[in-house]
Amino acid sequence: MSSRKKIVAANWKMNLLPVEANELIRNVIAGSSGTEQITKIFFPSFTLIAEAIKAVGSSPYFVGAQNCSEHEKGAYTGEVSASMLKNAGCTYVLIGHSERRSYFKENNAQLSAKIKMAIANGLSPVFCIGEVLADRKGGTHFDVVGVQLHEVLADFTTVDLSKMILAYEPVWAIGTGETATPAQAQEMHAFIRRTVKEMFDVEAALNISILYGGSCNAGNAKELFACHDVDGGLIGGASLKTAELCSIIHSF
Ligand code: PEP
Repeated sequence: MSSRKKIVAANWKMNLLPVEANELIRNVIAGSSGTEQITKIFFPSFTLIAEAIKAVGSSPYFVGAQNCSEHEKGAYTGEVSASMLKNAGCTYVLIGHSERRSYFKENNAQLSAKIKMAIANGLSPVFCIGEVLADRKGGTHFDVVGVQLHEVLADFTTVDLSKMILAYEPVWAIGTGETATPAQAQEMHAFIRRTVKEMFDVEAALNISILYGGSCNAGNAKELFACHDVDGGLIGGASLKTAELCSIIHSF
């Protein structure tokens, strides 16, 4: 039997100040009672992590970072290490978000090193994969996502994989208001799960949570989350609004 979790992860990107973050978290906690079976994670900017952890308090919500260095420590000005994030109270870290891949040129080898560093420091990586519009239009979207999985996850064990979450984020749907249809999402999530089975084993494939991200909102979350292989969402823009985020959390 599968033990995979239902998850709603809020990627705040480069938004909010501490007072706003605190208020949003408190309001979301107040508006999402009765959803104890859902794992909820806030991904604030580095400078908001301490405030987010304070606001979450003893409630069953988690805090993660949006990125970490692939290096352990040292002369890497501007970087933040996985051990620093763990020490700050983070449980999760986003790795390979498409904005990191495209604006900061993060490549698959680097992402693999970041995941290693995260796991070594007791953080659960949320590894993001997804194709750009040209891939989808050219019909190569499965190949692209397959290569991302193979190149980044090749050296990991099933034990490592059990600490990870995958997030399928078609780049053409991120921040654009365009969403993958439930059929498109299900088809890709099933492909991802099959690829995990081929690379690792059946159990790993059954147990890994795969989130959908890309303009997921209160209006479309229910039908996306109803798909057999969609285990929740990585939410960008809509996660900055209390009512939207609460509604998404209640969409399973
Ligand atoms: C994201 O950045 O992870 C994301 C899914 O953004 P949005 O929901 O705004 O498309």
